[in-house]
Formats: sequence, C-alpha cells, structure tokens
Amino acid sequence: MNLPPATALPQTPLLVVDRAALERNIDRMQALCDAAGVRLRAHGKTHKCSTLGRLIVARGAVGLCCQTVGEAEAYVAGGIKDVLVTAPVPAWGPPRLAALARTGIPMGVTIGAVVDDEGQVDRLSDAAVAAGVTLDVVIDLDLGTHRAGVYPHEALALARAADAAPGLRFGGIQAYLGHLQHLDDGAVRKSADEAAFATLKALVAELTAAGLPPPVVTGGGTGTHAFDLASGVFTELQAGSYAVMDVEYDVCGAPGGGDWPFEPSLFVASTIVSARHKSHVVCDAGFKAMSMDGPPARVVSGAAPGSLWRPMGDEHGMIAHPATFDVLKASGGSPLGFDKAVAGADADPSRAWPADAPKVGEVVWLQPGHCDPTINLYDALHVWDGTRLERWAVDGRRVSS
Ligand code: PLP
Ligand code: MN
Repeated sequence: MNLPPATALPQTPLLVVDRAALERNIDRMQALCDAAGVRLRAHGKTHKCSTLGRLIVARGAVGLCCQTVGEAEAYVAGGIKDVLVTAPVPAWGPPRLAALARTGIPMGVTIGAVVDDEGQVDRLSDAAVAAGVTLDVVIDLDLGTHRAGVYPHEALALARAADAAPGLRFGGIQAYLGHLQHLDDGAVRKSADEAAFATLKALVAELTAAGLPPPVVTGGGTGTHAFDLASGVFTELQAGSYAVMDVEYDVCGAPGGGDWPFEPSLFVASTIVSARHKSHVVCDAGFKAMSMDGPPARVVSGAAPGSLWRPMGDEHGMIAHPATFDVLKASGGSPLGFDKAVAGADADPSRAWPADAPKVGEVVWLQPGHCDPTINLYDALHVWDGTRLERWAVDGRRVSS
C-alpha cells in the first residue's frame, strides 16, 4: 500500500488510488485471461473512468463492458473502441447507442448491447436502421441471478429475432452470475458456477446446431474469475472489481480459497475534524463519502490497528480505538444509549483518548466496503504514483439525461 502524505492531498474526503497496486491488479488479471485463452472485457461500471479504462485496454483488454448508456458515451469519447452495454437499456437508449456508433464509424468503434426481450431487439433495430449503423446484440441469460436475462430455453428464439432484425448482428450470449460472486463458501461458489457452465455449454451446442453459433460467450466476475477462466465456455471475461477491490471481496475470499491475486488499490482519505470525546474522534467521511450497501469501510492506515470507522451522518464519521470499544458496546446501539455511554466516559477522569489514536488534523485512510457505488460518489480518482497525485475524472458518471 503506497499512499500519499497528507500534505499532498488537495482536500478530503478524497478518493485515492495506489497506482502501482492498480497496475499490478490489471496486469495479473490480464495474465490470467491470456493464460486461459479468454479475452478480457473488463467491466467499466466499477470505476466509470475513461482514463482507467484506457489503461486496462492498453494492457491487453479487448474493450470494456458498460452498465449504462452514459458509461458507453464516456468511454467512446475517451477513446475506447469496443464497448458492450451489459444491462437492458430503456427505450430512450437505442437512439443514443446508434448515434454513438455513427460518430464512432471513423474510429472503427463497435457498440454492443444485451437484450432480454423482443421489444428491445425491435427498438435497437429501428435505431440502428435510422442511423445507418450496425449494432451487436447479445442475448442476456438468467442462470439463477433472476435480475435480467432470459432462461436458457428462451434464448434461441431471441437469438433468431436478433439475427433476423435489420441493423443488428447476433453478437452472442451473456451469463453473469451475480448471485454467486460473494458466496463465502468457496466450494459452494465453485460448484454453483460449474453447474451453470454445464447449462451454458448445452446452450452453445443448441445455438450452434440451429445455425447461430454465438460469436461471443461473455460473463464472469471477480468472485468467480478462476472458475470462469477454467470453464472453457467463456470467450470473454467481464470482471470489474479486481482492479481496485473492496472490503466485501476481501471478506468473502478468493475463488478456490487462498489469497487473492489482487490487492486493494482504492482508498478514501479523511481528516479528523473534531476530537471532543474519550471514546472516539470524528472525521469528515460519512454517508456521502462511502457507499453503505456493503460492509463498512475498513481503517487501513492513520489509526491504531483494529480501529474502526462508522458513519455518524452525511458528512461525519467516527473513528473508534480498540481500547474504547467498551463505550460503543455499552451504548447498546441506540442514540440515547450512545449519549449516556459517551457522556459517562467523558466524565470519567481515569479515561483518556488513547495516545496512539488519531488527533485533530490527522488523516486516516479507509478502504471502501463496496468499490463501485463508492467511486460513483466522487468526481475524480486521485491517482498516486509515489511522487505525484494525478486527477482522473469519473467521467462515466454523467447520468442519462
Ligand atoms: N458483469 C455484470 C453484468 C455485472 O453486473 C458486474 C458487476 O456487478 C460485473 C460483470 C463485474 O463483476 P465484479 O465487479 O464482481 O468483477
Ligand atoms: Mn460491485
């Protein structure tokens, strides 16, 4: 972990990337894909940053996945030539994707989108014909996540519709097994993934026999990447989080057990702004600095080992020291209990805020619980290469309107 000194930070909370760790992650995943003969189409939803996307492509990826039309627009504007939108797009989306394909013609840009019903096929076809372009259409499969996607027995009919529609090219099939990515039990994660591969292989055989061999079989994620790459069925891997990692992935563990081949490269720097109590200090990273849908962020530097961060409001966070956890425990988790426990600790002359705990003005470093929604809270990644902090805009965050 190589993080900048506090004096290098223009402000806090700041989203900081350890560039060397990021590059190691990018190169490790690329090497794993190369060894397996699988193309990497890294997911750009993780970071929404075209500078980072260009780096991943420069290191060997064939292109990027996007989850939104806005991401696709930002990535093409940023020079990425091959994008696949991996979630069904609403009705306003196809004209924008077709316009993007049109402006991308001189650069040789390829735009693909997944579909899971015939209405989407029709709208993409109409938009492509109107713009005079060809769009790739990939059939999204539901192999147990029950989010978007057709069941395998429904795929052939939709593939035929895509193949027959003017302005469209049947681009293959997508199987992202989102429900498996964070399963704690590695053996269960593996067996469930492998059961899905059997279904996927049968579908590839069915499509091939029907004269529609899928040119691309895309899917997989960080949590299952080792099984996905060994499956022999995917031609492309769509993992995204591996580039930056997060507490959620650290907690659930690497596929197959052992250490992750990837390391945390994404952190939030936060300044201690208030120290009025003997039980905790207050930093400037609260709910607006950290997504809270996953596990809480982990304190990785700037405070005693085992210190914890918890949000205390939109712009306030708590840093507690292990020697003060008894106060938090005594609070019972209720606001009035917290008031009583903290006031009691403050009135106790035998207590003091521990000497090795952070003080006002100091910076603590947090590893986000869940990378993608945390990055989505910031305008930029600040990338530290050991000497310089470079600002990379999170330009794919421009929303749809
Ligand atoms: N593909 C799709 C369709 C996704 O929704 C996601 C993430 O949710 C990914 C790939 C990337 O997964 P991960 O970030 O776990 O590598
Ligand atoms: Mn995620």
